Amino acid sequence: MIVREALQGLLDALVAEGYRTLGPTLREDAIVHDDVTHVSELPVGWTDSQEAGHYHLQRREDDAWFGFNVGPHSWKRFLHPPLEPLWGARRNGNGFKITVPAPEPKLAFIGVRACELRAIAIQDRVFLGGRYSDDTYRARRMSTFIVAVNCAQASGTCFCLSMGSGPKAAAGFDLSLTELLGADRAMFLVEVGSEAGARMLQRIASRPPTEAELAAARAVLDRTAERMGRRLDTTRLRELLREQAEHPRWDEIAERCLTCGNCTMVCPTCFCTSVEDHSSLEGTVAERVRAWDSCFTLDFSYLHGGSVRHSTRARYRHWLTHKLSYWIDQFGTGGCVGCGRCITWCPVGIDITEEATALRAPGRAKKQGEAS
Ligand code: SF4
Ligand code: SF4
Repeated sequence: MIVREALQGLLDALVAEGYRTLGPTLREDAIVHDDVTHVSELPVGWTDSQEAGHYHLQRREDDAWFGFNVGPHSWKRFLHPPLEPLWGARRNGNGFKITVPAPEPKLAFIGVRACELRAIAIQDRVFLGGRYSDDTYRARRMSTFIVAVNCAQASGTCFCLSMGSGPKAAAGFDLSLTELLGADRAMFLVEVGSEAGARMLQRIASRPPTEAELAAARAVLDRTAERMGRRLDTTRLRELLREQAEHPRWDEIAERCLTCGNCTMVCPTCFCTSVEDHSSLEGTVAERVRAWDSCFTLDFSYLHGGSVRHSTRARYRHWLTHKLSYWIDQFGTGGCVGCGRCITWCPVGIDITEEATALRAPGRAKKQGEAS
């Protein structure tokens, strides 16, 4: 156990070891991830209300430090940045000089939720698990220190329980915290997940938990599991989605979907990118960057002569079917961790759990020649 204020000592120790410390903080009416070097920068006493197409900050009645759920940012923003310079060239007399990005500081993530740990593990499979691995992702990942926080509440769009990814942080952390708001003094129950975590814990004062404190931490997680905002029946879902490729529900979704790509941007496991070359107007500087892309854009599936997925129906069907079915064939794991972000941040409130459930109902097969 550590007293809650001891988290500052942990932040100080991480900074002293050269880590860039990142955590939840209030910016622009949302709780987002940014640099946090002092505990006063955490969203102390704030919470969020989330529903399909709805996100709203609210004051809590207590002073919980982690009394909210996941916001629009996921940690992929740092491990797999939205815009990543690959290399550049600068004109140098009659020749040019190649420039490469400077090395980055080690990253320490504070407040990583259970679903996000699973999402990082999924991205590890994507970027590091196959025949080809991503060197920049590997460099960041190998030097990342993770402080997880067990969720003491579930939002209206959370369904990690259905996906087996929460609410308890099970693996993939260095240290894990459960916030206990006692009547006299707030504490964190600390679980050690790695040797690096054990070393770091030695830098701050701690003591073994009592039986009552362990029971209180279990009760926090039980309550969160009971209050899960949504659920998704995953029985035979992988097979079902393949069988329902011509289901009329895809047309109904297409009438609402704006193909804005928000769901792919906020999703902690979506990983698609495109590579772009930019040059200055006077022709002295050129740069190659990797940028997040989305299967909801027409250009994303452009091959010679046109886009493969030209209709909204085809693009949404591809996204949902990949997440919940084909992803398993590709990476040996599903692509959804039940964080609920795509539901909250969809401007028209399209809900992946509702759509997957609707696809279980019998559908009419399309007639030959009908557009898809
Ligand atoms: S499902 Fe929602 S968030 Fe995703 S592309 Fe369609 S409108 Fe945008
Ligand atoms: S598909 Fe939606 S609920 Fe699943 S991980 Fe992505 S954003 Fe979260």
